Amino acid sequence: MNNIYQKKVRECYYCKSKDLIEHSKATYWNYADLNYEECANCGLIFANPMLSLETIIFGNKALNIVHTSRGTLNQYKGGKQFSFWLNKIKNYGTILDVGCAEGFFLKGIADHSDWSVEGIDIIQSAVDFANNILGIKVYFTTLEDFKTEKKYDLIRINNVIEHCLNPILFLKKSYTLLNNNGFVWCSTPNGIQDGAVLKNANKRGIKLNLLENHLFLYKPKTLKEIFRSIGFTVIKSYCEGIKHSLKDFGLIPFSKIDNNNSKFFLSDYIYKENIIFSITDKELNEIYNSSDLKNYKLKLDIFLKKLFPIKMFWGISVGHQQFILAQKK
Ligand SMILES: [Zn+2]
Repeated sequence: MNNIYQKKVRECYYCKSKDLIEHSKATYWNYADLNYEECANCGLIFANPMLSLETIIFGNKALNIVHTSRGTLNQYKGGKQFSFWLNKIKNYGTILDVGCAEGFFLKGIADHSDWSVEGIDIIQSAVDFANNILGIKVYFTTLEDFKTEKKYDLIRINNVIEHCLNPILFLKKSYTLLNNNGFVWCSTPNGIQDGAVLKNANKRGIKLNLLENHLFLYKPKTLKEIFRSIGFTVIKSYCEGIKHSLKDFGLIPFSKIDNNNSKFFLSDYIYKENIIFSITDKELNEIYNSSDLKNYKLKLDIFLKKLFPIKMFWGISVGHQQFILAQKK
């Protein structure tokens, strides 16, 4: 590999401030050092220098080898659950899932609503699977390079903007692809909590080895500001998953830091064959007919989440994952 990094940037991707301060240090697959900086003005946290696309692709390929399960049933189930909400917005609409992988989430929507579903992904084998096996229209492209005349009623960006190379351009493109009154549903790790994990480890002399290329970390407030600056109206914003919070923030001083990834070295995976996802017809039918998909189970699940509100909607940004629903008005 030649270029591990891209050129170091001197100003914030979002607010253009040159006041970048040291945030934390980690490694990417024990291969490249990750140096996170934080914009003192807007709070955006990002790796600087940024990894090159080549490095990221090698890491993604290695991650694909390490991962043994794709959570196909959960994705399909999530799609069905999502369709309950979609059906409340509109009986019919068009959705684009950015980074849709093999397309099981979209398939879950397509099978349980009248919404028309499409996706994009940068893994060719996943795109082929979605088109050929699931019959879901998925394009092989990045969002930035996606060329279409179509407009969508909803764009889903699930755990993608922490990986992209320029989130501002990414979200601007999403905006242009939406119909008026269309929505973006976006989910990404909470940068406050994830950032605290990195800092907490550094304080104890540990550099965490990251396998996923989380190159941008967003504090909920910063993410909302970015959405608004592009022209979106933020309808909803909350965080979920407060498990591990005290530990992540270093408030349990002697808790063990999970450094489970330290044994992974990119060099061990570079020459290994990639694993292409496949599934038998029998397995596929088991997913479609799973008893986990019963309406009452899915609705109970939604109800329980509401009953035990781990959502920090009053503005305290605790919780591993953040969600934002924004509208083009
Ligand atoms: Zn900034």
